[in-house]
Amino acid sequence: MKLLLGTNNPGKVREISKFLEGVPLEIISLRTFEEIVPVRETEKSFLANARLKASEYFRQTGLLTLAEDSGLQIDALDGQPGPLSARFAGEEASDADNVTKVLRLLRGIKPARRTARFVCVVAITDGRKIWIATGKCEGRIATRPCGKSGFGYDPIFIPNGYKSTFARLGDTVKDQVSHRAEAFCKVRRILERITGSPKYAADDAPRIRKRS
Ligand code: IMP
Repeated sequence: MKLLLGTNNPGKVREISKFLEGVPLEIISLRTFEEIVPVRETEKSFLANARLKASEYFRQTGLLTLAEDSGLQIDALDGQPGPLSARFAGEEASDADNVTKVLRLLRGIKPARRTARFVCVVAITDGRKIWIATGKCEGRIATRPCGKSGFGYDPIFIPNGYKSTFARLGDTVKDQVSHRAEAFCKVRRILERITGSPKYAADDAPRIRKRS
C-alpha cells in the first residue's frame, strides 16, 4: 500500500521520512508523478491549508495522501509569519530572506518578548475521511542566526529548555522536541489504524501517469 507525501520541501521530506520509518507503507513523493499540479496554499490557517493539500493531491492521484502545513508564530508580531512562513519575505523568498525579515522586524525587542512557537498540522485522507494530527514547539527567537543544520527558521529558533537554536542543536534534539516530532507521533498511530484495516489490503492504482 502506498502513501503519497504532498510536499515539495526537501527539508520536510527528509524529516517526515525519518518519522515514518518502519511504517508498513511505500512512501512516494510528488516527484514520482509527471503531471501533478502543485497546490497553492490559499487558505488562512494551517489546518485549512493541510486539508486542502491532502484533498487536492488525493483527487489528482487516488492515493492515500499525507500533507502538512507548518510555520512559525511570533507573539510580538501578532502571530506572523504563521501560514505565510514560507513566503514571508515574498513569493520567491529564500529561507535566508525570511530569517532576515524576522530579525529586522524584531530589532530592539528584548529576549523576554521574543516568544514564538512552531506549529505543524498534518492531514491524511483516503478520499472519504480526513485524519488530523497537530504538534507545537514553544521557544523564542534569537537575535542573530546560529548553526547550519535543519531548514527554514531553524537558525533563529531556540526551543524552550535549550540555550541554542535548532540549527545549532542538530537533528537529534530537533527530532525529539519539534512540532513535527509531536505531530508525527500521532500520525504513526493513525497510520497503524489505517494499515491494520482490511479495507486497505488491495493495492491502489495511481490515477495519473508516473515518471518512468
Ligand atoms: P509550508 O508548510 O510548505 O507552507 O511551509 C512551511 C514553512 O514554515 C517552511 O518553508 C519554513 O519556512 C517554516 N517551517 C516549518 N517547519 C519548520 C521547521 O521545522 N524548521 C524551520 N522552519 C520551519
